[in-house]
Formats: sequence, C-alpha cells, structure tokens
Amino acid sequence: MPQQKPKRCIDKMGRIVIPNDLRKSVGLEVGDEVSFEISGKGILIIPVTKHCAFCNSKHDLVEFCDKFVCKSCVRELKMM
Ligand SMILES: [Zn+2]
Repeated sequence: MPQQKPKRCIDKMGRIVIPNDLRKSVGLEVGDEVSFEISGKGILIIPVTKHCAFCNSKHDLVEFCDKFVCKSCVRELKMM
C-alpha cells in the first residue's frame, strides 16, 4: 500500500507546520533556520546548516565573518 504524503494547511500568515517525523528525519530542531527554493511546481525547504567551523557543534554558536564558532572553541582560541 503506498504511503500517504502528509498534508498541512497554510494559515492566514502564510505559515505551515512541518510534520514532526519529517523534521526529525532531516535533523531540524526548534530555532533552526531553513531556506526556500522553487522546484518545478513546488517549494523545497532546505535546512541551513549552522555548526561550529572547528568542532561541528550546533550549540552556543556565535557568528564571525559568515562562519559559526561555538563558545567553547572561542574560549580555546582566546587562550592561544
Ligand atoms: Zn566548536
């Protein structure tokens, strides 16, 4: 039996809720940033990967020159 694709309604503000299982399957968490791209007759929602440029941590990030660095790595850099 073919699996049904999840459907959601767009609210008055243009918002939709991305189904939890889809968010989990691509690793999206609350507060993550996404970008949008037209694809044929649809719209692709693409996760914007924010992680530390040194250790790949996704937590406690600060932005510096279009890169992200976690606070732990910032502390280590300050000690150099
Ligand atoms: Zn780091």
